[in-house]
Amino acid sequence: MLPNLQTYHRPTTLEGAIRLIQPPGTVPIGGGTFLIPSRDPAVEAVVDLSALGLSYIREEGDGLLLGATITLQQMLESPALEERSRGLVAEAVRLTASRNLRGQATLGGTVAVGAFESPILTLLLALDATVTFYAPERKQMPLDQFLQERVDFLRRGALITELFVPCPKGTLGLGMAFVNRTPRDRPIVCAVVEAQWAEGTCIRARVALGGMAERPIRARRAEESLQGRAWGPEVLDQAATLAAEPLNPPGDFRGSGEYRKAMARVLVHRALREAMGVGKFERK
Ligand SMILES: Cc1cc2nc3c(=O)[nH]c(=O)nc-3n(C[C@H](O)[C@H](O)[C@H](O)COP(=O)(O)OP(=O)(O)OC[C@H]3O[C@@H](n4cnc5c(N)ncnc54)[C@H](O)[C@@H]3O)c2cc1C
Repeated sequence: MLPNLQTYHRPTTLEGAIRLIQPPGTVPIGGGTFLIPSRDPAVEAVVDLSALGLSYIREEGDGLLLGATITLQQMLESPALEERSRGLVAEAVRLTASRNLRGQATLGGTVAVGAFESPILTLLLALDATVTFYAPERKQMPLDQFLQERVDFLRRGALITELFVPCPKGTLGLGMAFVNRTPRDRPIVCAVVEAQWAEGTCIRARVALGGMAERPIRARRAEESLQGRAWGPEVLDQAATLAAEPLNPPGDFRGSGEYRKAMARVLVHRALREAMGVGKFERK
């Protein structure tokens, strides 16, 4: 399905993989669920990452390390990720791909594709994930920054090796809200909030949105408006407005820009309410 593919590599060392992906026309392959159907005529060689030993989910320091070749199904079944995300990882994964695709598609491939409405990436942004990659030297940066510069890094032959998800201590609140056409369709717009609390006051909040720009994004102005405050109706209204207001989302057959903007405000409000532990709602 890649019409000009001639060479298949399966290195067993990271150094080997980094070296092999450098020539033009050579790309890494994770599960191949996106790359192979793309029929990209520029691809002449693929570097299979499955023998690099990057299929781990393990505790490290004060967080979780996720190897780039874990499958979406491994993420869904991980007790550590389940606990860290209060079950939201499983929800985000189910919304992304069917059971067959989940067994193949990898986390690294998902980050590299950087789909603008990806609920997995939106959730990882709210969880404050960082990405480690080689381009060809080792780099580590917040996922938000990586997604901004993703195209440039990948053009320069970047190889994503792992993500780190911090597990902060203290009182946390997580909330996710989305709208989709059918219960198992990918979200048109998705909002995820994580807040840290101390004595009823929010000490830190991350608000992430999918489906509202060319990549999943953080709503920084909304986050600033929530910090250091006890959340009441006015604070939530203001944050939801600040999250949606500056955005001019692209429209497509699933939802116009105006619809997405209206939904972003509603969904951020719902996710905030869930994160503060009241106003729980049923997810579709
Ligand atoms: C037709 C189709 C459309 C899809 N559309 C969407 C969508 O819009 N939104 C969504 O959330 N999910 C989508 N998915 C789900 C998709 O399968 C997964 O989300 C994931 O993006 C693909 O992971 P993979 O491991 O199969 O990637 P692959 O197909 O192996 O690779 C995808 C791209 O990522 C690169 N890559 C892979 N691993 C790495 C790495 N470790 N470092 C650097 N680059 C790497 C490859 O070179 C390639 O360019 C789609 C799936 C299919 C089959």
